[in-house]
Amino acid sequence: MTTTRKMTMGIVAAAALALSTGAAFADHFIGKWKVKDSAGKDFEIVVAKDGTATADRSGEGMTGKWVEEGDAVTITWDTGWKTKIAKDGDGYKKTAYEKDPSVFPDVPPPAPATTQVDAPVALTESVAREPGAPMRARQPHFSASALNAYSDCARKWYYRYTCNAVEDRGSSASFYGTAFHTALEDFHETFVHPEPAHEEQMRNQVRGDIARAFGGHRDDFDTAVEYELQVRRAQRTAQRYVTWLVAKAKRAPFTIIGRELHAAMKVGGYDFIGFIDRLDRDDASGNVAIVDYKTGAIAESAAEYREKVRTFHDFQLPFYYWAREAEGDRVATLSLIPLKDASSDVRPIELEVVPVAREETRRNSSPVGTIGIADLERARVKMGELCRVLSDGSLTAFPATDDPSACTYCAYKLACNDRPATPEEKFAR
Ligand code: SF4
Repeated sequence: MTTTRKMTMGIVAAAALALSTGAAFADHFIGKWKVKDSAGKDFEIVVAKDGTATADRSGEGMTGKWVEEGDAVTITWDTGWKTKIAKDGDGYKKTAYEKDPSVFPDVPPPAPATTQVDAPVALTESVAREPGAPMRARQPHFSASALNAYSDCARKWYYRYTCNAVEDRGSSASFYGTAFHTALEDFHETFVHPEPAHEEQMRNQVRGDIARAFGGHRDDFDTAVEYELQVRRAQRTAQRYVTWLVAKAKRAPFTIIGRELHAAMKVGGYDFIGFIDRLDRDDASGNVAIVDYKTGAIAESAAEYREKVRTFHDFQLPFYYWAREAEGDRVATLSLIPLKDASSDVRPIELEVVPVAREETRRNSSPVGTIGIADLERARVKMGELCRVLSDGSLTAFPATDDPSACTYCAYKLACNDRPATPEEKFAR
C-alpha cells in the first residue's frame, strides 16, 4: 500500500506542469480503483480526470460525478448513492453512503449488497503522465516583485503567477502592512514638508491616521486581541517614524513630491508597473530619494541590500530608479524604511547612487552605503532577460529553491514535495 502511495505522489509532482491547480491536488485519485462491496465481491471504480466516474459492480455499470473534499473524493452516483475514497494512514479507505431521500426521492432503494462498505482500497492503475508542455507568463505586464519571487524560487513563481494556486486571504502581517502604508499615505497628504517645529502636530496626526487606517481593517484580523496588538505595535512604530522624520528634516529639509506614485516603463521591451511608496525632493540640491516602506523583514545593512541587488534577488528599487530617471528625476538615494519593530528606532537602509560604489564588505553593518549605476544597469538588463525567459515558452520545469529560508512564509508548502529541508528537519531525520 505504501508503495502505491509513493508512486502516485510522484505522478502528482510530474503532472503539475500541465494541469490546472484544482486538478493537480486531486490527481492522485484519478485512475482505476479496485474495491469490494459489502458482500466481499471485487469491482472497479474508474475516477476520470473530467470529473466523471464509472463502476462495474455486479455487471450493472454505474456512472457518477466526483468532487474533491479535503483529502478524499466523493462520487455521487446517478442512483443517488455516494462513494467516498479517503486517505487512511498510508493507504485509502472506501465508504459507501445511502442516498439522501430528500435529494433523490424517485430513486428506488439499492440492492442490499451495497448498504454499507467500509474497506481498504488501492489505486491499481494510475493515469499515464501527460506529455509536458512549455509554460509561459501570461500577465500583460511584469512587476519587480514577480521577478523577485522567480529569483527566490522558480516553483513559487509558477504556483503564484501561472496557477494562482492558493487564494491569498491575507494574514495579520499583510493587513498590518497594508494599513500602515495607508496611514502614512494619509499622513503625508498633510505633512508634505515635515517641519521640526510641527513635531507635536505630526505625532497627533499620525496617531489618528493609524487608528483610522487600522479601523478599516478591523474585521480582517482573526481576533479582537490580534487587532489590538497590531494597532498598538503600529502606534509605537509610527511615533518612532516621526522621531526619525524630524531628525531627517533638521539635517536636510525635504519635500514629499509623491505618495503611492504609479511607476511604469518598458524594460527590455516588456511592460513593468509598480507603485513607489514615497518620493522626496531634497530642498537644497533638488535631488530625489526613492523611499520604500517595509513592514516585514529586510536586509540588515546597506551592504547586504546591495548584494541582493547584485545577485538579482531584488529588483524593486532598481526598477523605481530607472522609472523615475526616465521621468527626468535625478535620483540620488534609494531608501528602505523598516516599520516592523516597535521596540527599535527607525533606522533606514540608504544607498547613495554613485558612478562607482564603495566596496564595503557584506559584514559591514552600516545602514548607509553606496550603489553603483553599473549595478542598477545590470539589474535592469537582467529584468529584461528574465521576462524573455518567462515569456518565450521555453520553460518546461520550475525547480524548487535549495534555500529553505525562501520557504518560511511560502503559501505553497503543503503542495511542494521538493521543498528543501530546514537544518532542524535535516537534524531530525
Ligand atoms: S515551499 Fe519552498 S521550494 Fe516549495 S514553492 Fe515554496 S519557496 Fe519554493
